[in-house]
Amino acid sequence: MTQTMQAAVCQQFGTPLVLKEIEVPSPGRGQILVKTEACGVCHTDLHAAAGDWPLKPDIPFVPGHEAIGIVAAVGADVRTVKEGDRVGVPWLHSACGHCEYCLTAWEPICPSAVFSGYTVNGGFAEYLLADPNYVAHIPKGLEPTDAAPLICAGITTYKGIKQAELLSGQWIVISGCGGLGHLGVQYAKAMGLLVCGVDIDPGKLANAKRLGADAVVNARDGDAVTAVKKITEGGANGVLITAPSLPAFKQGIEMTRKRGTCVLVGLPPGDFPVPLFDVVANCVTIRGSFVGNREDMAESLAFAAAGKVKADIELEPLADINSVFERLEHGKVAARVVLDFAPVSAAATGQSVGTSGRRLATGRA
Ligand code: NAD
Ligand code: ZN
Ligand code: ZN
Repeated sequence: MTQTMQAAVCQQFGTPLVLKEIEVPSPGRGQILVKTEACGVCHTDLHAAAGDWPLKPDIPFVPGHEAIGIVAAVGADVRTVKEGDRVGVPWLHSACGHCEYCLTAWEPICPSAVFSGYTVNGGFAEYLLADPNYVAHIPKGLEPTDAAPLICAGITTYKGIKQAELLSGQWIVISGCGGLGHLGVQYAKAMGLLVCGVDIDPGKLANAKRLGADAVVNARDGDAVTAVKKITEGGANGVLITAPSLPAFKQGIEMTRKRGTCVLVGLPPGDFPVPLFDVVANCVTIRGSFVGNREDMAESLAFAAAGKVKADIELEPLADINSVFERLEHGKVAARVVLDFAPVSAAATGQSVGTSGRRLATGRA
């Protein structure tokens, strides 16, 4: 008998996900089957389901690339993980391992890279397949719901900050203090930087302050570039743009100090104007950054295991994914929503499930 599972499926771009029973996949040679415990909801999942980007997923597909779970079965020739291990299935599902990018630890830009919840089914389902060579290994003591946002939002901001090549004591602007940015603020503080949070939402800015930002600027109030230049006495040495909004990009470049680096990670569809004269005459570096490699993954998780970084999470059931998408699209998610599969598993085993409505699990006191 074929086993089935609950999954949220994108059947058509720009329409709500459809909750349905689909077949549990079985792991082929070199693959593992992971039983999902938790999966974060990233703004990228919205872009994926909307078909926002030039390279589109094949529909139907199951989104989700912040899945944490337990290895339930292993295919032939799997040696690096075993049944019962807790792993994360990140955006970088697998890569070739042999190209010039893989050989230099730039596997996220491998031309043969496969992406979870995009080019293969992801974590908005009770089970998913993974490549054991590319899963995240979740440190003991880290709850699956806490680990979930780290395997995309965490690694991406951590790597992005590294890409700004800053020295401790220098200024970084984190533009967009939502799912990615609220972790970016914490990584930047843990890395010894001075942090200026920029957002258009007072709640996100208050959160950034609570998480350690030295200053915050509301990009909707007056001239944000001038405000940042005043705070940082001439511009931030590094700027990390996570905002999924084009106006933030030109602004971020203008907030960058002479000889500074502006790192782009937000991915709103479209192009933005580059103030060419300023970039050239100020010797500014503009750098794209795309998640991180496996070593970045281990390092970004280690910050959390050491208690230096903690995601602010709100738990929701898979069944509520469309209302989560709606809130995320309209900026109504405080930091990160994590789909919690524990109640589903408890119900499946006949245990009582005491959840109704939204459960709050804010990270810090
Ligand atoms: P989110 O919705 O949780 O957070 C976005 C934040 O940006 C919100 O706080 C919002 O208020 C703020 N914002 C909106 N407009 C702004 C503006 N003009 N100026 C400043 N702040 C503004 O989204 P998220 O999950 O953090 O994802 C953010 C973006 O990063 C998405 O485009 C996503 O696809 C992209 N992303 C990229 C990578 C990568 O590897 N490069 C990885 C993950 C996500
Ligand atoms: Zn993501
Ligand atoms: Zn490769």
